[in-house]
Amino acid sequence: MRVGILDIQGAVSEHRDAFERAFTNQGVSGQTCTVKKVDDLKEVNGLVLPGGESSTISAQLGRLGMDALIIKLVGEGMPIMGTCAGTILLASRLESSAEGEKTKPLGLMDIVVERNAFGRQRESFEMGIDIDGLDGKYRAVFIRAPIITGVGDRVVQLSRLENGTIMAREDNMLAMVFHPELTPDTRVHEMFIEMIA
Ligand code: GLN
Repeated sequence: MRVGILDIQGAVSEHRDAFERAFTNQGVSGQTCTVKKVDDLKEVNGLVLPGGESSTISAQLGRLGMDALIIKLVGEGMPIMGTCAGTILLASRLESSAEGEKTKPLGLMDIVVERNAFGRQRESFEMGIDIDGLDGKYRAVFIRAPIITGVGDRVVQLSRLENGTIMAREDNMLAMVFHPELTPDTRVHEMFIEMIA
């Protein structure tokens, strides 16, 4: 299995390290590669849209002509995982805000997302959360995190806080507003590996 990490901007090497650990924990023979251009997309069985600055990543995806191919491949069944800014990119719609308008989401998942939903006072924090399908708490790192404010019928909410959904799955798409690559716990990466396997 070959997992591609979109390498335009944001947390790329951390995801690669997390997958290496997850492959070992699961005894899966897999590798990761970076995806920087259209041709790289043809080599992967699954794709990660990492956290970063969603407006920058969105503009570059369009400029490089990768947006249309990602939409096509995911439509054909390729698993995709979005973390933080990656979840903003997966959305069908962003809550309208001056910031939101700079970012053009790919419209893949039936979710509505609000950017920077936790306010300036709490730009970055960690907390133990419950995730459906995982035993015990999962320590999640939030960095200028968005939140999922609306979900369509096909979307399964895997974790929620009072102000909205923080992790969700729809068919071959997995979205979370936190950064699973920044903790030693590899269970979220393992969930995605199981979606590819
Ligand atoms: N606030 C960023 C955005 O809106 C996302 C932050 C992140 O990915 N850590 O693009």
